[in-house]
Amino acid sequence: MDYDVRHNLNAIIDSLPEGVKLVAVSKFHPNEYIEEAYSEGQRIFGESHEQELSKKQKTLPEDIQWHFIGHLQTNKVKYIAPYISMIEAVDSLKLLKEINKQGAKCGRVIDVLLELHVAKEVTKYGLSLDDCRRLLAEGEWKEMSNVRICGLMTMASFVDDENQIREEFTLANNFFNEMKLLYFNDCDYFKERSWGMSDDYHIAVQCGSTMVRVGTTIFGPRVY
Ligand SMILES: *Cc1c(COP(=O)(O)O)cnc(C)c1O
Repeated sequence: MDYDVRHNLNAIIDSLPEGVKLVAVSKFHPNEYIEEAYSEGQRIFGESHEQELSKKQKTLPEDIQWHFIGHLQTNKVKYIAPYISMIEAVDSLKLLKEINKQGAKCGRVIDVLLELHVAKEVTKYGLSLDDCRRLLAEGEWKEMSNVRICGLMTMASFVDDENQIREEFTLANNFFNEMKLLYFNDCDYFKERSWGMSDDYHIAVQCGSTMVRVGTTIFGPRVY
């Protein structure tokens, strides 16, 4: 292991404000890296490829809380539904319905976040604010008893301009507050705001983030 995972992990945890959770993004890193972080007490890990995740899940401790953070194809939901702790990047009603269906099949209520697109880049996945508004206003989700919408997830643009990043996270945070008031005021569980990665989590925590997803700063560069 070239990277001092223990040191990096603890440095990040120490820098996070109270109540902000760390998702250690372990995609493309081998089990031994995850075990190293696990031995320091880290339990939430993020992965973005179904096959890689399913392989790791079978061979690593059972009390790891796996978060699926990437784009998830509907035909892959059934493989992760039995064990996934949270699906963070729900970007369509179709995907939400499939998660509900597979959740029902294995007798689980699956926690999810809706993925917002606030970045200026056009290549990213995610719901526009209007799409997200529409999805929640249409109300079909209220009938889905095997999914629980716990909040929102987003990614800022990959730019150096901190002001732009701050604007995008703030937009997401304001939108979260608006949706909370409209649809989830009585739901304690609608509280998660998953924003912030290695390069911008220090900004994200100033803009309401409750969950940062950090990979490179803990584990080093990924070898694809
Ligand atoms: C890979 C990934 C991360 C982690 O990125 P780092 O820059 O390595 O911290 C966070 N969120 C998502 C959605 C990712 O795909």
